[in-house]
Amino acid sequence: MCSAWKHLRTILHHKNLVRSGCFKVGLYKQGMLHDLSKYSPSEFLVGAKYYQGDRSPNNAEREDRGYTSAWLHHKGRNKHHMEYWIDYSLKEGHAMAGMKMPTRYVVEMVVDRISASKNYQKERYQDDSALKYYEHGRKHYLIHPDTEKMLYFLLKMVADRGEEETYHFIRREILKNDRYCKKHHLCTKDEYVGYDVVLEAMKDWENPFEK
Ligand SMILES: [Zn+2]
Ligand SMILES: [Zn+2]
Repeated sequence: MCSAWKHLRTILHHKNLVRSGCFKVGLYKQGMLHDLSKYSPSEFLVGAKYYQGDRSPNNAEREDRGYTSAWLHHKGRNKHHMEYWIDYSLKEGHAMAGMKMPTRYVVEMVVDRISASKNYQKERYQDDSALKYYEHGRKHYLIHPDTEKMLYFLLKMVADRGEEETYHFIRREILKNDRYCKKHHLCTKDEYVGYDVVLEAMKDWENPFEK
């Protein structure tokens, strides 16, 4: 099978997984539009050329060309990546910093990471796969401390209690997309909805973020 076809199949499979996860938490539009830029020539042709199957083609492109053109194109256009939110820093001594991500994109990032882990690990995938992958790469991340807390908290919940329970929790407690919330007028248009819930829940946790 040619690599373009294999790459297309990987994208479609990934998009299906993300769509189903996003729908479970009530993020319908994001579930439909997730990763659309992967169909643009700048990303698709490179992805097909460096198709790997068990890891991201970006790593192969980096080794070959010295930079990752497809990824640079992707992260600049897709808000569910923490790299989209890197901006110049106003703090002395810091060139760049991660901005606080709106909650709905943190949630899409969680679903994305679970789906990517499933795609690459196949039958070896377990509930803690996405958390382990996150812990592996954490030291390299430029991310807002509150956003890091929310990401970690949700991935840890997936590892400990599974996807379904976490999605239910996100829908009701974090995004307040639940029918209960709508009935009781708890839903809100606040971009940072649910951050308070996570920060409150983590206030007695030992700091897992020392870098
Ligand atoms: Zn993406
Ligand atoms: Zn994705």
